[in-house]
Amino acid sequence: MLYLKDGFGRKINYLRLSITDRCNFKCIYCFDDKYNKNKTDLSLNDIIKIVRASVNCGINKIRLTGGEPLIREDIINICQNIKKINGVEELSITTNGYNLMNLLKPLKESGLDRINLSIDSLKSDVISKIAFANSNLSVNYPQLIDSINKCGFKNLKINTVLLKGYNTDEIKDFVELTHYNNLTVRFIELMPIGPSIDLFKTCFIDSTCVLKVCSELKPLGMDGVSSLYKMDSYMGNVGLISPVSDKFCRFCNRIRITSDAKIKTCLHGSSEVSILGLSEKAIEETIKKEVLNKPYSHNLDLKKKSNSVRPMVSIGG
Ligand code: SAM
Repeated sequence: MLYLKDGFGRKINYLRLSITDRCNFKCIYCFDDKYNKNKTDLSLNDIIKIVRASVNCGINKIRLTGGEPLIREDIINICQNIKKINGVEELSITTNGYNLMNLLKPLKESGLDRINLSIDSLKSDVISKIAFANSNLSVNYPQLIDSINKCGFKNLKINTVLLKGYNTDEIKDFVELTHYNNLTVRFIELMPIGPSIDLFKTCFIDSTCVLKVCSELKPLGMDGVSSLYKMDSYMGNVGLISPVSDKFCRFCNRIRITSDAKIKTCLHGSSEVSILGLSEKAIEETIKKEVLNKPYSHNLDLKKKSNSVRPMVSIGG
């Protein structure tokens, strides 16, 4: 078994690969016009080369992200090709769900293993304010969740960024999604990065607010970077992801590669190393070297500001 370890002995087995920085949503905390002028997609060839090189280093979990990964017309082809690579044990995707309904079946057939669905509000007027910049995009989330389950995707995770004044009055409604659905709703603390640096001052709320609203939640322990809870007799779980109030860098097992082919070993670090145009072997060597230089932790908790020069939309969450 091949292991990739950083300078602190952490096993790194997870790559978040941003295949585009284009997005059909413009979330107030994520999207930044200044950064989204030069839209970039990773070519299929680069994607394959990067995944092969990563697997050769010891990575076995790949998550496709963006931007919005389902905006890519060749998304099915991308998934099929990644699944053919020996050593990829899990392929997952993070999506806002907008293009998902029609793609569910082909995505399942392509071999995609898991889906993380980002939903910040179940109310269309609120989602418009958060994500759509007042355009008229809309998603029927309950129907979409039902279809994802029926299509046979297991361990659905719903990611909800806690935004004080926008969606914190919906915490119980999100927890209620776990009543009759075998899924995990994960409340994520807003991170001060890109456009969120300003927003953070007014909209940040500590994830423990969820436990205050739903005091009946029972702790189940850690699942990766999230603390898991459950309501008695409910089918699903609730997770709290607290990068600011209770940072989990000691458990970090991931690296990121952006859609313009830069390695970021820490989401909130300033270091970015380009692998564009390199051979598979050279990418492999660069990943190994950068992983050894991976910082131990970010300092969002102290500085309340990311050192990353990019917003999330051009890194990939
Ligand atoms: N477009 C896809 C989506 O919406 O899931 C994938 C990309 S998006 C950057 C990935 C995740 O990052 C989303 O769940 C989003 O809510 C989260 N995210 C973006 N900016 C964030 C911030 N400042 N703090 C916390 N989470 C953030």
